[in-house]
Amino acid sequence: MLPNADCHDCRTRARAAFAGLAIGDALGAPVEFMTVGEIRAEYGQLRDLVGGGWLRLKPGQVTDDTEMSLCIARALDKSGGWSLEGIAENFAVWLRSRPIDVGDTCRRGIRAYMLKGTLETPPNEWDGGNGAAMRVLPVALLTLGDDMLLQRYAVAQAHLTHNQPVSDAACITLGRLVHLAVAGGSKHQLRREVDSLCERFATFRFDPYRGLATGYVVDTLQTVFHYFFRSRNFEECVVETVNQGGDADTTGAIAGMLAGAYYGMEAIPKRWVKKMDRRVMEEVQTLAERLVALSPLCRRDPSARHLCP
Ligand code: MN
Ligand code: MN
Repeated sequence: MLPNADCHDCRTRARAAFAGLAIGDALGAPVEFMTVGEIRAEYGQLRDLVGGGWLRLKPGQVTDDTEMSLCIARALDKSGGWSLEGIAENFAVWLRSRPIDVGDTCRRGIRAYMLKGTLETPPNEWDGGNGAAMRVLPVALLTLGDDMLLQRYAVAQAHLTHNQPVSDAACITLGRLVHLAVAGGSKHQLRREVDSLCERFATFRFDPYRGLATGYVVDTLQTVFHYFFRSRNFEECVVETVNQGGDADTTGAIAGMLAGAYYGMEAIPKRWVKKMDRRVMEEVQTLAERLVALSPLCRRDPSARHLCP
């Protein structure tokens, strides 16, 4: 976290991060599970919120990546801080509502909570899917200014459904990247954070990029890192990421989250914002601001407090 991070700028970037997550999800979902070649044959390059795909989505419709993030954000907002039970309860309500899609590992963890009240799934080497990493944003916003808190909460929310060291590391690193980008950090600083992840877990190395964009959290993050670090703006980052296909809604969501935080609200194309469900866009931005206001960063800095909602 940068010492001179200004609270107003943080709030705007936090809003852009959550809006970017939803937009990246909606952009990528129609090409989820497609290959690069299949996408090229059907769309040339996919640059718009077209809907369709295997889920038969409306243009601009979001999926589980955004919905699970909203479950977490609403729980933290409602309790005015950390509440693992609140998150689990919202996941349960969401699963009962028959969501448009839900990952197998997520479903298993949520069902264990519903049946037995389990708040931590046992360690499992197969829990390396991206389902915990894709929803870490609200926890990153709540913990702005406190890395220890981020580490604890990022892993606790993950362990509701995924308990695996590589998934844990991915959640913490994405949270730290959000912390840096929301505070106005440079790409060089973000790259150093990713390099430190790659030193601890060499499997995340993404240069040269292997071109795999599956739901395995390592492939997902390699794809996001590859396109984020070479991008020059929000649109380029998210478009190139989803056109890699595979788990395109999730790579799109994570890329949109980072690019939103880094490039800011003005960088998000208006034609995309217009196509999104207005209620979703309003809710993600309101919750982003409220989570930042609850964070140590905003609470600690009395001169900035009046800027917070
Ligand atoms: Mn999804
Ligand atoms: Mn997905």
